[in-house]
Amino acid sequence: MFKKILVANRGEVALRVMRSAREMGIKTVAVYSQADVNSRHVEEADEAICIGPAPSNQSYLVIPNIIQAALQTGAEAIHPGYGFLAENAEFARACTDNGLKFIGPSPEAINKMGNKSIARETATAAGVPVVPGSPGAIETVDEARAFADRVGYPVLVKASAGGGGKGMRVAVDADDLQKQWDAARTEALAAFGDDTVYLEKYLLRPRHIEIQILVDQNGKGAYLYERDCSVQRRHQKLIEEAPSVALTPERRKEMGEAALQLAASVDYEGAGTVECLFDQDGSFYFMEMNTRIQVEHCVTEMIVDRDIVAEQISIAYGNPLSFSQEDLSIRGHAIEFRINAEDPRKNFQPSPGRVTRFAVPGGYGVRVDTYLEAGKDIPPFYDSLVAKLLVWGATREEAIARGKRALKEFHVEGIATTIDFHYAALDRPVFETGEVYTDFLEKEMGDWDVE
Ligand code: ADP
Repeated sequence: MFKKILVANRGEVALRVMRSAREMGIKTVAVYSQADVNSRHVEEADEAICIGPAPSNQSYLVIPNIIQAALQTGAEAIHPGYGFLAENAEFARACTDNGLKFIGPSPEAINKMGNKSIARETATAAGVPVVPGSPGAIETVDEARAFADRVGYPVLVKASAGGGGKGMRVAVDADDLQKQWDAARTEALAAFGDDTVYLEKYLLRPRHIEIQILVDQNGKGAYLYERDCSVQRRHQKLIEEAPSVALTPERRKEMGEAALQLAASVDYEGAGTVECLFDQDGSFYFMEMNTRIQVEHCVTEMIVDRDIVAEQISIAYGNPLSFSQEDLSIRGHAIEFRINAEDPRKNFQPSPGRVTRFAVPGGYGVRVDTYLEAGKDIPPFYDSLVAKLLVWGATREEAIARGKRALKEFHVEGIATTIDFHYAALDRPVFETGEVYTDFLEKEMGDWDVE
């Protein structure tokens, strides 16, 4: 096994990776920006190297600094976590060029999946259904209009380079299209430096269902079932659960096998997620593939009893996947709540600052992954996720009850968080019925406000 790995990330995911590494007897190297000197991931690592000033484009995104830190400390491999450089093919290539193992798929596989319109073509070629959409990028608004007339409104103008819910606009009719076309392109250019867009039919009230996969270097793979991530705000996930109440065992198997087929078509290696939209009529469509570990991977860990990050590291070393599809089964139900330093009463605006109290819930079936503690400051430079609260129950009903209990027991002071918003969402009768679609927040939580 590797003797030492570098974790090219911060926050809860850096700790998450280091935990598995330590259990595997692997030493860890943390990298940090000047804003993170006192951060928990720095404290818990065996070694830590400062890679630059606070802004991520001067630290966590600077490839040469990270490679240098790995070479200097004798790390053999780099785990990118999620976000930052996790889906950057150039970074994966730089690792290989410097004799370091990138814990993830090849640069070629990242490239084939990284661009949404190219990924759609790859999926189509692999026989995986995609949301009805333009065959490739669309150049002019007239072309867009012609496409929309053919499939019918509403349509979604989507940035090819998109991610994080950015560069995506719904057009409800022909008049609206010009406006949304311009808006999506402007946003895409600002966020990704690329204003290429394509069109998709906008599905009404779908569920977001994604399949977790793991594939080793010999192409042996398994699907670790699905996560239902339909509770979103502005196309960004807030609550994730597994399994999805919408899937029959047959559909689950079909989607799992389609995900593995897609992975095989790009010689995929490591952990990955195939994201799909699940329509009201029961059809599913490929949306995109995330070529990395995701925030919500722990939901799956709770129902399959496997450490996905440990498996990722082991696969990267060259070991075979430690289990087969037949070894897996679903145990109970798990739900994750993203605890963000955001103020839901002020349109979810970020709420960095000093945390004066941080009391986490515990007890049977509760897992909290966080880097935060009382007395620490949340820097304003990075994403607002500060903790993930996960609950497990023998049934969905039990998981919901445990979730409410745990949310009530989670006390954070000094900053605003999404904790009581989550409680209110969970408390909606609709949530209990499981009839939860991507419009849940706007439909159910629009009038939410507490005293
Ligand atoms: P990003 O990569 O920016 O997160 P995704 O392509 O993963 O964007 O889409 C994010 C969310 O946007 C989905 O989970 C879904 O709620 C919504 N969405 C995306 N495409 C469609 C579509 N064609 N129809 C309806 N909703 C969509």
